[in-house]
Amino acid sequence: MTCMILDGKAVSIAAEATFKQRALVLEKLSGGKKPILATILVGADPASATYVRMKGEACKRVGIEPLKIELAESTTTSELMSKIKELNDNTNVHGILLQHPVPGQIDERLCFDSIETSKDVDGVTTHGFGRMAMREKAYGSATPAGIMRLLSHYKLDIAGKLAVVVGRSPILGKPMAMMLLNSDATVITCHSKTQNLAALIGQAEILVGAVGRPHFIQSDWIKDDAVVVDAGYHPGGIGDVCLDGIKHRVKAYTPVPGGVGPMTINTLIMQAIEAAEKKAGIN
Ligand code: NAP
Repeated sequence: MTCMILDGKAVSIAAEATFKQRALVLEKLSGGKKPILATILVGADPASATYVRMKGEACKRVGIEPLKIELAESTTTSELMSKIKELNDNTNVHGILLQHPVPGQIDERLCFDSIETSKDVDGVTTHGFGRMAMREKAYGSATPAGIMRLLSHYKLDIAGKLAVVVGRSPILGKPMAMMLLNSDATVITCHSKTQNLAALIGQAEILVGAVGRPHFIQSDWIKDDAVVVDAGYHPGGIGDVCLDGIKHRVKAYTPVPGGVGPMTINTLIMQAIEAAEKKAGIN
């Protein structure tokens, strides 16, 4: 069996070339002003700081200006909400990214939901999720939307397939399951209370690992010819799915790193450009 590597890095590099053109058009239309993506980092979590830095670098590569906002670890919900309001009201800002997770004293859901829907380019608001679920136009949550783009790029069939999503977080597992359902997959969503997990995974024609535990999904649970998407990322470049010794018997898989991660950032950037185009009346 020939196994396909779902190369998110290559797909995102190719997409950046077109984003660059689109950002240039926007810059010309607005008299030399680049589209702006505001990134908010609360606290000093090193992994979050790295993600925000990578997102800022991706912005610069395509001609979007990152507006970096760094807030103290002790920031309160109301302080964060007033910063978000300021960015909502700033007509020069096209998109807002609030890096997840925020420190525990903050009501993250309330803060996510205070982001203006038109600027929710990371797809984190309840309103955006609801619209996406109803198949209305909305910015998708960046990681699952990036996964859908990757599956589409490699022309992998989704309709009618049995998809198993392991994880149900608001920004990953839950929207992932909904996007697969909206693409006519038959979807099973698993979580920490799921029983007979290995047996459910064993049925998956499309498997998405979004558990947050290194190599939690065992290679011998995975069905032959499955499409395996690993959203996990852990130190040392380890994902949530162990594919040791079975890469030859799956249909396709995302490498870690270089699979889902680059598509997440790329989708955020794509949606920031879409938001700027919408504001400029060209989308
Ligand atoms: P999360 O919020 O911690 O959610 C983890 C999910 O896994 C929860 O729904 C949890 O179930 C479920 N789970 C935990 N233990 C389980 C078990 N024993 N059996 C079945 N399900 C179990 O994590 P997340 O934010 O969704 O992230 C998941 C992974 O994706 C992490 O590795 C993260 O680093 C990675 N990630 C990658 C990107 C990227 O761009 N590549 C972006 C975001 C996240 P309950 O709901 O019952 O607790």
